[in-house]
Amino acid sequence: METIAERLKSALATIKQSTLKANRPLNSVKLLAVSKTKPVSDIVQAYEAGQRLFGENYVQEGVEKVLALKSYDDIEWHFIGPLQSNKTRLVAEHFDWMHTVDRLKIAQRLNDQRSAHKYLNVCIQVNIDDDQNKSGVSPDQLAPLALAIQKMPNLVLRGLMTIPTANQEISKQLSSFAKMAELFNQLKAVYPSVDTLSMGMSGDMPQAITCGSTMVRIGTGIFGHRK
Ligand SMILES: *Cc1c(COP(=O)(O)O)cnc(C)c1O
Repeated sequence: METIAERLKSALATIKQSTLKANRPLNSVKLLAVSKTKPVSDIVQAYEAGQRLFGENYVQEGVEKVLALKSYDDIEWHFIGPLQSNKTRLVAEHFDWMHTVDRLKIAQRLNDQRSAHKYLNVCIQVNIDDDQNKSGVSPDQLAPLALAIQKMPNLVLRGLMTIPTANQEISKQLSSFAKMAELFNQLKAVYPSVDTLSMGMSGDMPQAITCGSTMVRIGTGIFGHRK
């Protein structure tokens, strides 16, 4: 069986290959290692292999890991799961990034609960396939939410995130990612702080990179299957 270090290395090689194939600059795509359900010891293995960006989906589990790994102070923690408004404080207090802002109330609470000393980086989640099972704003709800976030002093609007409908044909994946890229470019033209397009997972990473992803979120490809 491959080790976490080996799988990490091949994920990075795939990212590099896809980036070059898309004629994009090297290092324009970051790797977020999604460690949900995996033990702290797995995160440490990835860390020792050089990984610094980690993503968690479940707020309680994520906070436990953030606290357990406090001494690894160059880890950047990303919250990428759905968030109920009564749990925003945990994200505001413990994470560096929040990828799944999808309504004003969540943004407001995060802003109110974030310490003024350190900005919380946020992405707005877009439901690009209009999928009933996915959260996220529709493209026409994006501009007003972005404007509201941009005015919040403790948040920095960094970009957009999406989770497309699973198991679609490649042509459909490409068209959803291309729509995201268009929304991202429009947003970037208005807000200079916007630099992140969070899209692509283990099953669709090359397609996401082809279309302009700047951060891929890989779980299974690094840590193996989840129970
Ligand atoms: C679990 C998860 C991932 C990683 O998925 P894999 O298919 O295991 O790579 C990425 N993004 C989000 C939002 C997730 O919940």
